[in-house]
Formats: sequence, structure tokens, C-alpha cells
Amino acid sequence: MSDTLFTKIINREIPADIVYEDDLCLAFKDINPQAPLHILVIPKKPIAMISNATNDDENLLGHLFLKAGDIAKDQGYGEAYRLVVNNGEDAGQTVFHLHIHIIAGRSLKWPPG
Ligand code: AMP
Repeated sequence: MSDTLFTKIINREIPADIVYEDDLCLAFKDINPQAPLHILVIPKKPIAMISNATNDDENLLGHLFLKAGDIAKDQGYGEAYRLVVNNGEDAGQTVFHLHIHIIAGRSLKWPPG
């Protein structure tokens, strides 16, 4: 399988505005922000989508969500933010490397479209 766009960002083959990195994950600003804060948190492990994750990924998934909350707080939006995971094309997924959207900084409607 060829590398996804996000694996290329992890490998520094294409640029991104990286805000956080550790052994397990990378976080960078979305190229097409939907709110004043729009960051993507991705695992370094190339899991295509959340439905492909397994029990072996339990700690990794917990890590991603905890870091997403930390990043929202570090960016000044700890009071209110939304975390989104799109799973599959009909749910709006366009990049098939698991990612959590952190969206904040404006009033968000529910339900999403
Ligand atoms: P999704 O539609 O849930 O798969 O989200 C994919 C997200 O990746 C979208 O919000 C895009 O704007 C974002 N995106 C696509 N290419 C890049 C890129 N090169 N750098 C940063 N974000 C990107």
C-alpha cells in the first residue's frame, strides 16, 4: 500500500504546521480550517480508519484522545472544543489515515451536517 498524505507528513516528505509530536502521534494544523482552531491528531501507526483499529490499539487510541484534550488546552481552547473522527467516505472521511479533528474557537452547531 502506498503511503498516505499523512504518513508523508510524519516522514517530513510534505510540509505541515506541526504543533505537537511524541513517539506515538503527531498533531498539525488542518490545511482547510473550519474554525479558528482546527488541528488533526494522528497516530504514527498507519491505521486507515477507526473501524480498522483492534484491541492492540487500545492504549494508542486513549493516548490520542488524551493528547487531543491537552493540545486544545495548550492552544487556549480548553473550555470548549469538539473532537471528531470521520469513519468512511459517507461519514466524510477523505484521508484514510486515522485522525482526530480538534475544532474550537467558534459556536458549533449540533447535529453536524
Ligand atoms: P477527513 O475529511 O475527516 O478525512 O479529514 C481530512 C482533513 O485533512 C481535512 O480537514 C483536510 O482539510 C485535511 N488535510 C488534507 N490535506 C492536508 C494537508 N496537507 N495538511 C493538513 N491538513 C490536510
